Amino acid sequence: MTELDVLFRARRVVTGLGEVDRAVGVKDGEIVAIEAYDAPLTAAETVELGPDEVLLPGLVDTHVHVNEPGRTEWEGFASATTAAALGGVTTIIDMPLNSVPPTIDVAALEVKRGAAAGRSHVDVGFWGGAVPGNAEELRGLHDAGVFGFKCFLLHSGVDEFRPLPPEDLEGVLERVAAMGSQLIVHAEDAAAIDRAEAPHGGTYRRFLDSRPRGAENLAIAWLLERARWTGARVHVLHLSSSDALPMLASARRDGVRVSVETCPHYLTFEAEEVPDGATQFKCCPPIREAENRELLWEGLRHNLIDIVVSDHSPCTAELKHLDTGDFGTAWGGIASLQVGLPAVWSGARRRGHSLADVVGWMATGPARLAGLTHKGSVALGKDADLCVFAPDATFVVDARRLAHRNPVTPYDGRALSGVVRQTWLRGRRIDVTGPPAGRLLRRGTRTGDR
Ligand SMILES: [Zn+2]
Repeated sequence: MTELDVLFRARRVVTGLGEVDRAVGVKDGEIVAIEAYDAPLTAAETVELGPDEVLLPGLVDTHVHVNEPGRTEWEGFASATTAAALGGVTTIIDMPLNSVPPTIDVAALEVKRGAAAGRSHVDVGFWGGAVPGNAEELRGLHDAGVFGFKCFLLHSGVDEFRPLPPEDLEGVLERVAAMGSQLIVHAEDAAAIDRAEAPHGGTYRRFLDSRPRGAENLAIAWLLERARWTGARVHVLHLSSSDALPMLASARRDGVRVSVETCPHYLTFEAEEVPDGATQFKCCPPIREAENRELLWEGLRHNLIDIVVSDHSPCTAELKHLDTGDFGTAWGGIASLQVGLPAVWSGARRRGHSLADVVGWMATGPARLAGLTHKGSVALGKDADLCVFAPDATFVVDARRLAHRNPVTPYDGRALSGVVRQTWLRGRRIDVTGPPAGRLLRRGTRTGDR
């Protein structure tokens, strides 16, 4: 064999077989050898992991709001991908809204690709948006490489990305199914939320009551039936209501093509402990009770929830209204891209899960959702996207020291297990102070564009 570029020797590597000790060889950005730990391989560079370190595949985060261009003061490709790299995430898929323009036609996609090009330390792909009036744009977006289409069933939070009216959904699903794409859905029912009391003031309970579980349950039930009728592939974004798990299981048993994600914050925090006025905890759907959180963990245990992705949705401190602490007026969104892995690992280990489980939820599963067949696992032929992780090391999150553009996150001050020591993209260690080497990904292609 020609000499390897990089050789990792680790006592613990998370592969499809679980944790094993291996030597992992990389050539031209690809994993080309996985052999016994002490196999006689040579490489230009050898990385010997410490006894407290584990080699993981780089994470794939399919739910990130980068917000550039248009709301670049909220985040941006340089800051988001720096945070991703420091958090062990090697691929992000950007959501179609909160940037201006939203990604609802090919021209807008090209604007976003232009904003990301040359600024991204990790690989970046894009979701398209399905909004009223853009049905004719979906094919073009699909052909231009978006990974699927996002829609809302209620006001999205920004006026330029409008929700699909109920009567439009079936037609959109038929189009999406015909293209072999998928619809990813913010599932909360508009009417149910309209009937609930509007949130105001600093009491978290009031905000929680304004976004009841019923609104999620209803929207998911409604979506599942339309997925059943059309045969389209749908994905439920940011599941918070554990009530919906039995009906998701039932639909799957019937063959409905549905996948489900939840987010680190729903698995970490509990409504009972959100302090009054702490709007950094506000997101939609909301963080619910401790009992609900435990049922979400059970959903992961039983494979009813497929993946855990960040829904990193930051904004400026000003828009969080931390001065007044009013949950009614504060922007709804949680910043967590850099701390998602330690947050989920901290909760997972406490509940008896392994690192291999976490890798399944945060790397392999999201890669599968996006059809990124060359990402998300340590296996022959995959991109050498890797994370050197020290699972027993601990740290306290300091929001000001994260690479997120705005130092606002509910994880601030929280002690977490698991430190990301190195992140590698296509066989090269990411140096966030150096030139960005991330590529722009298109669905169904491997190499991406610089
Ligand atoms: Zn989101």
